[in-house]
Amino acid sequence: MAAIYRRVALIGLGLIASSMALAMRREGLAGEITGHAPSAATRAIAQELGLADSVHETAEAAVAGADLVVLCVPVGAMGPVAETIAPHLAPGATLTDVGSVKQAVIAAVGPHLPQGVHFIPGHPLAGTEHSGPRAGFAELFENRWCLLTPEGADRDAVERLRAFWEAMGAHVEEMDAAHHDLVLAVTSHAPHLIAYTMVGVADDLRRVTDSEIIKYSAAGFRDFTRIAASDPTMWRDVFLTNREATLEILGRFTEELFALQRAVRTGDGDHLHGYFTRTRAIRRGIVEAGQDTDAPDFGRAHRTQGAGPGKS
Ligand code: NAP
Repeated sequence: MAAIYRRVALIGLGLIASSMALAMRREGLAGEITGHAPSAATRAIAQELGLADSVHETAEAAVAGADLVVLCVPVGAMGPVAETIAPHLAPGATLTDVGSVKQAVIAAVGPHLPQGVHFIPGHPLAGTEHSGPRAGFAELFENRWCLLTPEGADRDAVERLRAFWEAMGAHVEEMDAAHHDLVLAVTSHAPHLIAYTMVGVADDLRRVTDSEIIKYSAAGFRDFTRIAASDPTMWRDVFLTNREATLEILGRFTEELFALQRAVRTGDGDHLHGYFTRTRAIRRGIVEAGQDTDAPDFGRAHRTQGAGPGKS
């Protein structure tokens, strides 16, 4: 495929950036890739893996002359990084990000942008519990959604970015930033907090490291431990920046949990059965929409790394 951008700068070289680099290389989407990460260790690994044609000590050097700049740093670092690179962005360049929260990123990045730079926030709904430059793989975005929240950005620039994500295998949809944050609070952020809690509770009971617990743990608890292994910095920033939507969903979650708790205590089997019937139908809907497999145990036995349920 012909290159969509002449020079793409990846700021932050972790799981998402390294996956983008590998997908860009495979599809020939960038004439040149530049990269930056603050730690020398990450820069050395990026160089060793050939993730970028040039790896820079400063973000300013990495963005010089780029027609696409992608912020792949934790949400809390987006504003400071944008402030640093803003004077060095080329006129007409597109600036995007991959952050899991959108309103806070827009508020933090927007004020720093010079005239003539197209800011198009984005979020690929794809990930794993691993992080860092070695965690990436080119298939990460295949058949996953990438949400853009362009809010009045130049249409040609938006269509170009859409084509870029589609060439990496993603389905692209545009969305209002506030709606994005609420949807993700339901589908990703609150479930992560619940997984962290569940594993924390098991740890409080001093049983989680018992070999018996791991050995006999059903997929439910194992799945919680996998999610709860996600990067602490990334997830701290998600909850600090998507506070309102997360609290809204957790409030509703708590109400439902109390209702189920009461049903268990009072032996209200009809309530439990009705509730579980409803949730089972939701699972069926997800499978019918092609967002997951209905193979037993998520098809784990046959799954390749990139084909499993994504995270965000
Ligand atoms: P990651 O693997 O932990 O990588 C983060 C990268 O950001 C590292 O290279 C780190 O550099 C760099 N970084 C940290 N602070 C920085 C700063 N102040 N300036 C420049 N670079 C900085 O993280 P990731 O999973 O790729 O996540 C990156 C973004 O994608 C986050 O905003 C996250 O919300 C979003 N996202 C993540 C997932 C997921 O499942 N992981 C999915 C979708 C979106 P060093 O290595 O040198 O410290």
